[in-house]
Amino acid sequence: MKNLLNPFVFFLGLSFLFFGCSSSDEEGNGSNAAPSITIPLEVYKKVYGTTSEITIQAGYVYINTNGVPDHKSPYFKDTKWHDAKYEPYDASNPNKFHAGSFNMNPNRVSELNISFKIPNSPSKASTNAPTSMGPIGVSLNGIPFYNQYAGPNQPLTREINSFDNYNGHPAPLSPGGENGSSGRYHYHMEPFWLTANASKDALLGFLLDGFPVYGPEEGGKTITSSDLDSYHGHTATTKEFPSGIYHYHTTGDAPYINGSGYYGSPGTVSE
Ligand SMILES: [Zn+2]
Ligand SMILES: [Zn+2]
Repeated sequence: MKNLLNPFVFFLGLSFLFFGCSSSDEEGNGSNAAPSITIPLEVYKKVYGTTSEITIQAGYVYINTNGVPDHKSPYFKDTKWHDAKYEPYDASNPNKFHAGSFNMNPNRVSELNISFKIPNSPSKASTNAPTSMGPIGVSLNGIPFYNQYAGPNQPLTREINSFDNYNGHPAPLSPGGENGSSGRYHYHMEPFWLTANASKDALLGFLLDGFPVYGPEEGGKTITSSDLDSYHGHTATTKEFPSGIYHYHTTGDAPYINGSGYYGSPGTVSE
């Protein structure tokens, strides 16, 4: 018994612990690489606007949605959902770029078949792919996130007045086709329906690279693009990831959801 308290034995024990830890660290991914994180199924299940069970297979999560918002919108006008879900624009959109004079576009909500295949263990990509036009991620109500452009390298500017009360609008179903009857509803900026129902710092969805998107507040503070990196994210702890994770934020200033591309490697989406 007395020997165990001998300072020399104690030192040997400490040395073993110290060298044991440091050698196992060196077998890891290197000190500068952000570790990948595996996102549990129950976090994905916060995406409620789905048309089938969310599943994880061979490193990807599969999320299927129909692209029909669960909130009202002027863009349900004269559709099959008109009686239940049409509401005129009521000038309540708090987006500071929305002039208040609503400029409804000719497209309407339509029912789609959107399949997201997203990496389940996202990690930083060595080359960061730019986002494409069309869906760049999925929000909790199944509506796609779009990037900060109205067309290739065209800022949203004038399109913003066509956003409804909840900051979304539909794009044409196909370029040059079927205007006035159908379209792809989406959010380029904060989905006000989701942040009003949850909170300004809540999980809002995922981009195609698998990293989560949060609302415009964190720790009681409003996040702006100047708090984030060029991809429009940072690493910090969140409610769902108390050990920390890289994540994007929606912000009231450009580029709103994503900046110069995906932080990780994007999965795929089909419509
Ligand atoms: Zn748009
Ligand atoms: Zn954050």
